[in-house]
Amino acid sequence: MISVEKALHILRTNILPIHKTETLSTLNAVDHVLFEDIHAPINMPPFPQSAMDGYALCLHDSLEYDIKGEIKAGDNLKTELKTGDALRIFTGAPVPETGNAVVMQEKVTLHAQKITLNEPVTSGSNIRAIGEQIKKGDIALKKGTKLTPASIGFLSSLGITEVSVYKHPSIAIVVTGNEIVEVGQPLAYGQIYDSNSVMLQITLNKLGYTNISMHKVDDKYTNTLNKLDDVINNNDLVLVSGGISVGDYDFVGKALQELDVKELFYMVNQKPGKPLFFGKKDDTVIFGLPGNPAASLSCFYIYVQTALQIMSGNMDFSLNRTNAISESKFIKHGDRAQFLKAIYKHGNVTILDGQSSSMLHTFALANALVYVPESRYTIEKNESVETILLPVN
Ligand code: AMP
Ligand code: MG
Repeated sequence: MISVEKALHILRTNILPIHKTETLSTLNAVDHVLFEDIHAPINMPPFPQSAMDGYALCLHDSLEYDIKGEIKAGDNLKTELKTGDALRIFTGAPVPETGNAVVMQEKVTLHAQKITLNEPVTSGSNIRAIGEQIKKGDIALKKGTKLTPASIGFLSSLGITEVSVYKHPSIAIVVTGNEIVEVGQPLAYGQIYDSNSVMLQITLNKLGYTNISMHKVDDKYTNTLNKLDDVINNNDLVLVSGGISVGDYDFVGKALQELDVKELFYMVNQKPGKPLFFGKKDDTVIFGLPGNPAASLSCFYIYVQTALQIMSGNMDFSLNRTNAISESKFIKHGDRAQFLKAIYKHGNVTILDGQSSSMLHTFALANALVYVPESRYTIEKNESVETILLPVN
């Protein structure tokens, strides 16, 4: 059995960005990673722009200026200002070529067609210079940048409508278990509703991954083998839920072996999620997640999320770890590292009751996992604990 740190290290050293790119409309590109540098096709701003409502000035030594007209945002006037001239101007409007400052309207006194400045104005004030934000030809965003709403807004401001990005992996979720019933169906004695497939799918969607197919297989070896063979051949990432433990009806491990999936680790010294499998066949990445729902989700956040980000080109990804002050006392039994479902708020963290790997109720309240390493056995109130913030808020 390997440690959490070792497992994460193996993961990071065995996963590469997938070698597939696609061109997406910027509207659909959020959460994707740029596959190439993007150069600005225009200057931004493309013309000298007024940053204020006020008066554009062609500066001279006096505080008095003659108003020669008006220009508002969107106007295409090329009024020439002479020394001592002013032009009524509004935010976003082009400043005439000979205008060398804009004064805020609150800082002048208006008399008919003249203004008097309340105080002298320095050259260049309140003018956004051509290319002040970015110059035509300069790199706007670098290869490897993960696109956020703000970066897409920025690209749009440069007139860019399409980007080349790392293709998101195609993902298969395979749920195993004779007892598992799809929500919405009647539940017979001995059966339970499938929470994992819904939960994993939504978590993936929330992270921006939508190329997902859902599969179900019963606890029969040949069915498991055939299903896994099919999804491994047709996807970049396969998430198997359940059937990876050591019970007589857990066939996932045996099937993966039969299919020549290279085991990179199996069994991690952690709670929950001990029977976690990570392997590869050619370029397809395979996780065997424990069936217990809370364990499955913990493993998703810690391991699968990391793998997905790297596969999608986000090489800088790291879990959102912070130190927090514990508001709870906790005693760890045994040597396994633990991920404790918890609520983090303003630097403090409360460890929740009900940490069993089967209990989603607790997870439903949590926004963080407190990480208790192998070497730590107690957490006292007010002690600092490492906390992993989950992308749920
Ligand atoms: P397994 O890993 O297959 O041994 O399953 C461990 C536990 O998790 C068992 O109690 C299963 O019934 C439960 N379980 C497995 N898969 C799911 C699922 N998709 N949704 C909810 N519970 C599950
Ligand atoms: Mg099972």
